Amino acid sequence: MQVFKFGGASVNSAAAVRNMASIVRQYGRSPLVVVVSAMGKTTNLLEQLVPGVPQDEVARRHALQQLRHYHMEIVDELFADRHAPIYDKLAELLSLLEEETLHPATSYNYDYDQTVSYGELISTTILSEYLNASDVETVWVDVRDIIRTDSNYREGHVDWALTQQHVQQRLLPLLQNRIVLTQGFIAGTASGTTTTLGREGSDYSAAIISHCLDAEGMTIWKDVPGFLNADPKYFANTVKMEHIPYNEAIELAYYGASVIHPKTVQPIQHSNIPLHIKSFLAPEAAGSVIGPYDSIEPTTPLYIFKNRQVLLSIQPKDFSFIAEENLHSLFALFAQVGIRVNLMQNSALSFSICVDHNEHLLHLLMEQLTPHYKVRYNEGLQLITIRYYTQEIIDNIVGVRQVLLQQRSRVTTQLVVSNND
Ligand code: ASP
Ligand code: MG
Repeated sequence: MQVFKFGGASVNSAAAVRNMASIVRQYGRSPLVVVVSAMGKTTNLLEQLVPGVPQDEVARRHALQQLRHYHMEIVDELFADRHAPIYDKLAELLSLLEEETLHPATSYNYDYDQTVSYGELISTTILSEYLNASDVETVWVDVRDIIRTDSNYREGHVDWALTQQHVQQRLLPLLQNRIVLTQGFIAGTASGTTTTLGREGSDYSAAIISHCLDAEGMTIWKDVPGFLNADPKYFANTVKMEHIPYNEAIELAYYGASVIHPKTVQPIQHSNIPLHIKSFLAPEAAGSVIGPYDSIEPTTPLYIFKNRQVLLSIQPKDFSFIAEENLHSLFALFAQVGIRVNLMQNSALSFSICVDHNEHLLHLLMEQLTPHYKVRYNEGLQLITIRYYTQEIIDNIVGVRQVLLQQRSRVTTQLVVSNND
């Protein structure tokens, strides 16, 4: 039993879809579950269509038109027969999506999931038709009948017991000598509504299914050769990791290594499943493996950069110290607003947090903080995390930039620095 996950970039054009099909044909041994994201940047476009979001009717129609055009172009290139069943199926999904966008806005998170889920429904429908037409027999499965979550829309919490039961009863019987093709990112509640697992959550979907199937291996097909020691956007000479221990991968993803979604590793670690990260551009190459290793190989420093960071220094106005009561109410507030803390530090009089720049959330937070706290606000910063650092490495990376905050443990250092520009 294997699980493959293909992200948006691996199916963003007709050529990419052909390549994906050839990888499934060549490297997929059935029983195999293939988990796929929405094509290209479809989810971003769908976010503009959530009821209540489009500025006006023209914007709504324009975004729908873009979506239709994008998928139609891919389908036209993939299918020679203009009467292939995919045309009716796509038309139906697009008209259901259009209906969804015409609903009066209710709660944003709920509406979001009902709308953006069409990205994955459309991509898997196209792919399943294409694979079947290319003699790779697949069964299309609606993952909303398999992965069960609560109704915490936009980041559903998985009901593991029910999901496990659905995998055994509904998915496993379909897998006899066949390939199951299903959606990443989306899931379903007990009452039949659609939820999502959080942006970039398809890796997590594949991990949930791998865990419940006790798969032999899971493979994420990426546009990079494997798990690199730094994002090639920032580093010319990256090093590919051969072996990464599970816990190391969890730490790296948590600090912001974007190669895998942070929630991915724990379910597969629990079942001791190796997680391969391979390139869909060079499928024959070895890639990286996350697994039950003792240490990372090769040993080299790893770098994670987060841009557009904001540092908030929060001081109580009532001369109290930063202690349990203050921290308690501050964290309750962060959770309520939906602020994620990337780094924190406290002294007697002040508490500092480094967070992503999100205008909307920061505004909400400031509104609640300023009656009780004096807040200093520093924006346009970079958060650098280095595993296996040396002082020389730190000095090289920081250069002449100002360090606003630094933390060190034995293997990890994190620095909040002013940006180059
Ligand atoms: N399509 C979703 C997103 O873009 C899920 C994923 O790609 O993993 O966030
Ligand atoms: Mg994606």
